[in-house]
Amino acid sequence: MAKEWYPIINREACVGCLTCVEFCPHNVYQVEDGKPAVVNPDNCVEFCQGCGKICPTGAIGYFGKN
Ligand code: SF4
Ligand code: SF4
Repeated sequence: MAKEWYPIINREACVGCLTCVEFCPHNVYQVEDGKPAVVNPDNCVEFCQGCGKICPTGAIGYFGKN
């Protein structure tokens, strides 16, 4: 089944604080070059916006959100 909800990081806006990586308990992210990369989008919980809410720079958007 195609995953229809997962975070998309705006790497320009991201400052690499890694708050999102520490926050998410589902191993969606992996740190690459000091910034989060979405490596397991299937693990993301549909309609969760937890990481986006705590990102200090608003760098996290969501695929599936219109
Ligand atoms: S919380 Fe936001 S600024 Fe911090 S690493 Fe994640 S995406 Fe980047
Ligand atoms: S939206 Fe929720 S489940 Fe998905 S990566 Fe962010 S904190 Fe993790």
